[in-house]
Amino acid sequence: MAFELPNLPYAQNALEPHISVNTLSFHHGKHHAGYVNNLNNLIKDTDLADKSLEEIVKATAGDASKVGIFNNAAQVWNHTFYWHSMKPNGGGAPTGALAEKINADFGSLDNFKQQFKAAGTGQFGSGWAWLVLENGTLKVTKTLNAENPLHQGQIPLLTMDVWEHAYYLDYQNRRPDYAQTFLDHLVNWDFAAENYAKATA
Ligand code: FE
Repeated sequence: MAFELPNLPYAQNALEPHISVNTLSFHHGKHHAGYVNNLNNLIKDTDLADKSLEEIVKATAGDASKVGIFNNAAQVWNHTFYWHSMKPNGGGAPTGALAEKINADFGSLDNFKQQFKAAGTGQFGSGWAWLVLENGTLKVTKTLNAENPLHQGQIPLLTMDVWEHAYYLDYQNRRPDYAQTFLDHLVNWDFAAENYAKATA
C-alpha cells in the first residue's frame, strides 16, 4: 500500500493573508508531495512497505543506512502534523486542561510563546519548532531538518515548519515575523488540546 498525499484540512487560500496560496500550493503540492513520492519509491518491495508511517520513522531513526527513508518518512509525517497545527482564524489562547498545563509548566502563555518563537527563529538552517509532552511535562523543542519527536520519547502537540520553503515567498528572510504570525493568527489550539487529551487519557 503506497502512501498518499493527504489533503490540506482547509482550502489553499484559507490562511491568507498570513500564508499565501502561492506558498501553500508549492509547500503542499510540491514539497509534501515530493516527500510522499520519494518515500514510496524508497520502500517499494522492502520489508517497510507494509508498515505505518510512524513505524517507519521509528524503525529507521538513527540508522545511517536508512537515512533517506527516515528523512522522507519523517517529512511526510511532520508536514501532515503541521497543516493541522494551523487553522483559519487561529491564534488566541488555549482553554481547559491544556491552558492550565501551559500555565503550570511555562508560567504563562506569553512565556510559552516566547520560548516557541525563540526555538523557531533559533533553529540554525532548516527544521521544526515543537510543543511536546515528555514524562508528563510540556516542553518546547526544536529539531534539525526532518528530525521529529516521535522516536525521542516525546509526544508532539504542535509544530511549526521553519524550513525556508514554509515562509520565504511571503516573509523572505523575516523568519521571526513568520513565527510571530504563526502564534498570533494561525496556531490551532484545538488540535493541540486534542493531542494533549489523547496523551493524558
Ligand atoms: Fe515544509
